[in-house]
Amino acid sequence: MKNDCIFCAIAAGEIPCFKVYEDDVVLAYLDINPCTKGHTLVIPKAHSAGLLDTPPDALKEIVARVQKVAAHVKEVLGCDGFNILQNNGEAAGQSVFHLHFHIVPRYKDGPSLTFQSRKGDMAALAALGERLRF
Ligand code: AMP
Ligand code: ZN
Repeated sequence: MKNDCIFCAIAAGEIPCFKVYEDDVVLAYLDINPCTKGHTLVIPKAHSAGLLDTPPDALKEIVARVQKVAAHVKEVLGCDGFNILQNNGEAAGQSVFHLHFHIVPRYKDGPSLTFQSRKGDMAALAALGERLRF
């Protein structure tokens, strides 16, 4: 548990949450500022700041729980789809530096939530692909 980490405090039961699921690896609870009905966060009980700080074996366990919670939320709420969002770094919108996965249920008649995109430059994409390939 990391001092001054609000999600560690929630995992430890020191701060209340609207719990959806808990086991030895994760805790899942409703986001208090929901994007849509049923917006749920899944956090590991062990603190890590983000994706790159989390050991791959732990991540495997956590993501299996994200799948389980998402399936449950979808079944109970009957949403038409869902997004999994996982922010890393302030620039990406991360505000709580304890790894968490957002499960954002989506409804056909619900609000549109989209990343802005624009048509790519094929030559630039080819060069970038070369640069990034490993
Ligand atoms: P992020 O911007 O990806 O770091 O997401 C952090 C999320 O945590 C935000 O969507 C907040 O609404 C949510 N959040 C912050 N504090 C709490 C809390 N005490 N209980 C539930 N959700 C929280
Ligand atoms: Zn923490």
